[in-house]
Amino acid sequence: MIPFNIPPYLPECSVYVEQAIQNHKICGDGVFTGRCNKALEQMTGAHRALLTTSGTSALEMAALLMNIQPGDEVIMPSYTFCSTANAFALRGAVIVFVDVDPLTMNIDPACVRAAVTPKTKAIVPVHYAGVCCDMDALQAICDEYGLLMCEDAAQAVSSAYKGRPAGSMSTVGCFSFHETKNFSMGEGGAVLVQDPELAERAEIIREKGTDRSRFYRGQVDKYTWIDIGSSFLPSELNAAYLLAQLEQHERITAARMACWNQYHAAFEQLEAKGCLRRMHVPAHCTHNAHMYYIVLNSLSQRTAMIEHLKNNGVNAVFHYVPLHSAAAGLRFGRFHGEDRYTTNLSERLLRLPLHYGLSEADCSKVIEAVSSFFD
Ligand SMILES: *Cc1c(COP(=O)(O)O)cnc(C)c1O
Repeated sequence: MIPFNIPPYLPECSVYVEQAIQNHKICGDGVFTGRCNKALEQMTGAHRALLTTSGTSALEMAALLMNIQPGDEVIMPSYTFCSTANAFALRGAVIVFVDVDPLTMNIDPACVRAAVTPKTKAIVPVHYAGVCCDMDALQAICDEYGLLMCEDAAQAVSSAYKGRPAGSMSTVGCFSFHETKNFSMGEGGAVLVQDPELAERAEIIREKGTDRSRFYRGQVDKYTWIDIGSSFLPSELNAAYLLAQLEQHERITAARMACWNQYHAAFEQLEAKGCLRRMHVPAHCTHNAHMYYIVLNSLSQRTAMIEHLKNNGVNAVFHYVPLHSAAAGLRFGRFHGEDRYTTNLSERLLRLPLHYGLSEADCSKVIEAVSSFFD
């Protein structure tokens, strides 16, 4: 069976984890965390990058940094992971879900504009499948109405929009290093902040609301509780595992891209015949080969395809029951406008195996299995 995902691993992961153990420093913010933060700053040009315990906690930090208050409205796609909404619902915000652009599954700026009210505080674009949202259009809406923006770039580490790195184009950018993501530390994530003052507050919120980071830098002679916060910093063991991959991020991306390109070329004919639709990457987006998905013609066809692939040794999966129709989505949010694409496409989209180490032969086997479905 070709698994949908295998977490990324390089021999250097073991070397660094062993070093972290030998350093007798396995709690947070040791040398490995520092080196990961620096590597992320170099990759993205962000003023400050800070590792967190997950993409979820990065989003929670973002909601705190943006001072989201009860009753504030936060606009996001319904087609996303629940953590995008949870982070803001936890602060008492009303989640306003809108439809996606059917070509990319990314938030549709026209739907965002239509959903803005005097209570709107922020927009949360999700760069689905590592393909960036239409950031110029979204930024124009933020500028016009005085809104904040937080990128959920969980899937978009090392992607870019018009040459600007994902995660670095908004007030706070959020990365995930979950084992299903391109670069992984098991569970982990990062926040990226552009404004130096906000970066200081991010350090405080991340360290239980204390100024411990300033204390370590010798800027204050004792550290105390000065703001709300929580424990958002990961263990050095996790950071060590991640560092090895960040140092070789180009190699990991290139390997994933080879699989992605192989799928994309192979399915061109099936698309021309109307059997399926391929992923679409707008010309101004450089993606990171996070995911390869196809869109089938109906839910029943997708169900049959999953079964067919399973019988042919391939594990393919779908995801995202649209949040607005989920129990918590009904409680904490509302959908604005018409659901033209979200539900329909979420029932037809299928993700194929794609991970570091997936061989050309494995990709061929997946392609063969998909193609034989239509024979
Ligand atoms: C993976 C993911 C998250 C959550 O990240 P974790 O590290 O698993 O907490 C949030 N949003 C999106 C879009 C994701 O893909």
